[in-house]
Amino acid sequence: MQFQLTDEQTMIRDTARSFSETELLPRATKHDREEKIYPAVYETMKDLGLWGLTSPTEFGGAGLGNVELSLVLEEVNRACASTGVTLSVHNSLVTGPIKKFGTDEQKKTWLPKLASGEIIGAYCLTEPNAGSDAAALATTARLDGDAFVLDGTKVWVTNGGIAGVYIVYARTNPKVSKAKGISAFIVPRETNGLKVGKHEKKTGIRGSSTTEVILDGARVPKANLLGELDKGFMIAMDTLDGGRIGIASQAVGIARACLEAAVKYSKEREQFGHPIANYQAIQWKLADMSTRIDAARMLTWKAAWLRDRGEKCTQAASEAKLFASQTANYAADECLQIHGGAGYTDHFHVERLFRDARITEIYEGATDVQRIVIARSVLG
Ligand SMILES: Cc1cc2nc3c(=O)[nH]c(=O)nc-3n(C[C@H](O)[C@H](O)[C@H](O)COP(=O)(O)OP(=O)(O)OC[C@H]3O[C@@H](n4cnc5c(N)ncnc54)[C@H](O)[C@@H]3O)c2cc1C
Repeated sequence: MQFQLTDEQTMIRDTARSFSETELLPRATKHDREEKIYPAVYETMKDLGLWGLTSPTEFGGAGLGNVELSLVLEEVNRACASTGVTLSVHNSLVTGPIKKFGTDEQKKTWLPKLASGEIIGAYCLTEPNAGSDAAALATTARLDGDAFVLDGTKVWVTNGGIAGVYIVYARTNPKVSKAKGISAFIVPRETNGLKVGKHEKKTGIRGSSTTEVILDGARVPKANLLGELDKGFMIAMDTLDGGRIGIASQAVGIARACLEAAVKYSKEREQFGHPIANYQAIQWKLADMSTRIDAARMLTWKAAWLRDRGEKCTQAASEAKLFASQTANYAADECLQIHGGAGYTDHFHVERLFRDARITEIYEGATDVQRIVIARSVLG
């Protein structure tokens, strides 16, 4: 057993840390308030190769795995969770399935653009009546000559407003049981009939784009079917195993930011003649935060390591996501408490961390859904 990062992994983490401290930390509050990520950030991310972290080298990517992605996502999310989710979805939920299930032609067409950051990807599974029960989706894809015609509405699509390509899950066979008749499609932004709908106003991760995506007779060539016909739900779920490792990494990053802010403030703030860090009640909070963050990171790295080895990681990914997201919310709550009244105002970025942490228990499978996945595995 080996807990030490390799020299390459250390270098990758340090590069991501330096980028996050110089480019993201000073802008994270603006991203949140202005509900957009600064274009200069995207450009630096291109220069650093962050969009192509997990794309294979022959398509212009860095050819790295989930462990390295996790290291980068922890650093990025520690500074700015809006940028973090944008990057996580792009690498895990879009590059991931094209790399794993795409034809040679699809890989040649899409991976170089995704790897360079020329375009950003989005993943469209959720619908108004199909959230946790994603297999209940109602969007349809009908074969018409040499094309599929897609109709339906997707909601809460991360990167919806900024994406150049969408992976859309749609029903291709209404006659079989609900998870079986679903297929995945690669839908370019410029497709006639694809429209970006409402931009959501969110509690947290406000700098990230979250929109409706409306498909109204959207016609894509047959060649844009990703994987096999009617096997798309398996792709959606396999993809989410990777995505959940990304969100677990996001949660660890947010939790770490909370611990760091709490440590700093508790050493500076004096009450009853001493820094509040001198009081055991505060120390215990810091100790519990630190312990949970380390445990969450270990679960996350384990799931990432299993996925990189090609082993089944569904349970591990859900355990990591469940525990890390709860840790982020625990740490954000304690951090705000340690800041007292100031934590409840915009004097510190703590209130943003508190809002950003909340989503980690909801998207890519809410906490209850992670428990369902884990229990199903435990019960065999
Ligand atoms: C900011 C944001 C970004 C998102 N990005 C994307 C994206 O890029 N692509 C995408 O496809 N989707 C995306 N989503 C959707 C997200 O994955 C769903 O919101 C999530 O899966 C939960 O679905 P729901 O909101 O419909 O809640 P519901 O499924 O309605 O659940 C409501 C509550 O009931 C609980 N619940 C549901 N079923 C059960 C059960 N069987 N047992 C116990 N409890 C249960 C849930 O845990 C939850 O607490 C995003 C959502 C948000 C808010």
